[in-house]
Amino acid sequence: MLQHGILQKGISFRWEDEPYSCGYCWPEEKIMGLSIPIVKAVHQNLVEEIILHEIAHAIDYTNQNRWRYKYVIKNGRRKRRYLIHDKVWRDIAKSIGLEYPTATIAVCTE
Ligand SMILES: [Zn+2]
Repeated sequence: MLQHGILQKGISFRWEDEPYSCGYCWPEEKIMGLSIPIVKAVHQNLVEEIILHEIAHAIDYTNQNRWRYKYVIKNGRRKRRYLIHDKVWRDIAKSIGLEYPTATIAVCTE
């Protein structure tokens, strides 16, 4: 995070004790996080991939000076916000070493 200038932009890191998502980015709070149970369960290479994925969002934020996200609409109501994984984000992700950037990362914990 230091290497990519993320901390210098006011974005901090925290661990989450939550098994449903590998990594997190909270726009308003300027926080990036990783899931403790998932990080413990997967191979280190995958952890690095998850970190780079989230760092790419944070760099995207610092480049644009805003978070770029969409809302999931369900039954006509805004449900959940998710960060955009478009070409701009993919190019950032590739530039920091994520070979195949995808919106989701498949995790097998067996
Ligand atoms: Zn993402």
